[in-house]
Amino acid sequence: MQSELQTRYPEVRNYIGGEFVSTGDASIDVVNPANGEQISRVPLSSGTDVDAAVKAAEAAFPAWSETPIKERVQIFYRYKALLERDIESLAALVTEENGKVLSEARAEVLKSAELTEFACSLPQIVAGEVLEVSKGVECRIERYPVGVVASITPFNFPNMVPNWTIPNALALGNCMVLKPSEQVPLSAGRIAELLREAGLPDGVLNIVHGGQDTVEAICDHPGIEGVTFVGSTRVAKIVYRRATHNLKRALALGGAKNHLIVLPDADPEMTATNVIASMSGCAGQRCMAASVMMAVGETDHIVNRMLEYAKGLRAGSEIGPVISREAKERIERYIDEAEAAGATVILDGRKTTVEGREQGFFVGPTILDHVRPEMKIAQEEVFGPVLAIIRTSDLDEALAVENASPYGNASSVYTESGSMARYAMEKASAGMVGVNVGVPVPREPFSFGGWNESKFGVGDITGKGSIEFWTKSKKFTTKWNREAGVNWMS
Ligand code: NAD
Repeated sequence: MQSELQTRYPEVRNYIGGEFVSTGDASIDVVNPANGEQISRVPLSSGTDVDAAVKAAEAAFPAWSETPIKERVQIFYRYKALLERDIESLAALVTEENGKVLSEARAEVLKSAELTEFACSLPQIVAGEVLEVSKGVECRIERYPVGVVASITPFNFPNMVPNWTIPNALALGNCMVLKPSEQVPLSAGRIAELLREAGLPDGVLNIVHGGQDTVEAICDHPGIEGVTFVGSTRVAKIVYRRATHNLKRALALGGAKNHLIVLPDADPEMTATNVIASMSGCAGQRCMAASVMMAVGETDHIVNRMLEYAKGLRAGSEIGPVISREAKERIERYIDEAEAAGATVILDGRKTTVEGREQGFFVGPTILDHVRPEMKIAQEEVFGPVLAIIRTSDLDEALAVENASPYGNASSVYTESGSMARYAMEKASAGMVGVNVGVPVPREPFSFGGWNESKFGVGDITGKGSIEFWTKSKKFTTKWNREAGVNWMS
C-alpha cells in the first residue's frame, strides 16, 4: 500500500451501486503539486454516468430510508474508527494529490472523524416534537430524508469537505451522488472503500468524477432532490441558480476574503504567530485563511514579529505547494500587480523552489504592507499564502473596509479588550467570527457557513444547521379522544 501511494495510481473510476466502474469518457491528468508528476487520470463523466449513479441511489433509497436512524448511525461509528485506523495512509494520499504537508493532511482526516462523530449523535438531536394541542389531539413533527442528493466538492480538502456532507446526509436517510474535484479525485475512492467496509449498503453513496459537464448534468437531473456545492463564488452562483431553476433545494458555499483586525493592545506573540499560521496554513488555500490584516493604529511591533516568524517557515516541509502551475502563476500575478500598484512587498514568496522538487508549484509566504482598500489584492480572493496589510487609524475604519467586501466567510479581531472584541464581533458582516482566533471554524455541533457571497441558500452545511437541509418535516395531527364534541379546531 505504502509503495503504491508513492507511485502512480490506476485511472480513477466512478463508484456506482457499490462497484468501481470505468467509463468510456475522456479523462484528464491528476498531478502531484509537490513535484508536478502525473499520478493518475480522472474521467470527465457524462450525463449518462450521472444517470447511472442516480438510478443506483434511487434503488438503494427505499431500504436505506426505512432503516431506523439508530441502525444507520452504527455504520458511521465503524467508519469513524476506520478513518482513525487508516489516518496515516489517508493523510499521505491527501498530501500526494493536494500538496498540503502531512501534519495538515492528518488534521484534515481528524476533522473528518469529528464530522462523523457528530453524525453518530444525530439520533439524539433529531428526535421529533410532540404536543397535546387540544384535548386528545396531538401534533407531532417527524423528519424524513429528502431522497437522492448530490454533493459537489472543491480541491482544497479532498477528505474533509466530502465528509462535511456524507455522514450527515446519509445518517439522515438520504442516498448521495458525490462529485469530487477533478484535481483531487483519489481520496473520494478511499472514503467509499471505508464506508463499504463499515457496512454501508451498495448504492447509498455513489461517486461520479468529472468537471463542468458532470456538474451541469447533476443540476439538471430530475431524480436529484437537493444539491450542495462547495467551491468558488463564480461556480457557486452557477450551481445555485441552475439547481434551484430546476426546482431543487440547493446550498452553495463560495469563496472568501477574510479579514483579521489587529488592535494595538493585542498580545504580540500570539497575534503574530496566529495571523501567519492563518495566512500560510494549507498554503493559504483555505476558505477560512487570513487574506487581509487590518492593522489598527500602532501595530509595527506585531508586524515585525510576524515577519520574523514567516521568514522562518520552510517551503516543502512547513508550507506545501499550491494546487497547480496555473494557481502559482495566478498568485504571483496578484503579487506583481499589487507591487506595481504601490504595495510594499516586505516578504516575497515568488520564485520559491524546493530542492529536489523543482517542478513543484511552491509559493512562499508573502506579506504586502501599505495595501490600499481599492487595490485588486485587497478585494479579490487570492487563495495562496499571501497577506495584504491595510493600515487604518481606528476600528470603525477597519470594519468599514472589511464590510465593503462582497464576501462574508470569516472575520477575527485580536485584542485584549472585551468591549472592543464584542463590538467587532457584532459589526462584522461575516458568518464565522472569532476573537483571538486566526481560523474561526466552528467545531461540531456548531455549523459551518458564511454570509453574503460566501454562501447561497438557507442553512449551513455541517452541524445542527444542516439538518433542515438534509430532511423534510412531516406534521401529524391525530385525535384519539372518545368525547364526540367538536370545537373550533376540529
Ligand atoms: P471551483 O469552484 O473551481 O470548483 C469546485 C467544484 O466545481 C469542482 O468540483 C469543479 O469540478 C466544479 N466546477 C468547476 N467549474 C465549474 C463550472 N464552470 N460549472 C460547474 N461546475 C464547475 O473551486 P476550487 O478551485 O476547487 O476550490 C477553491 C474555491 O473553493 C475557493 O474559492 C475557496 O474559497 C472555495 N471554498 C469555499 C469553502 C467554503 O466553505 N465557503 C470551502 C472550501 C473551498
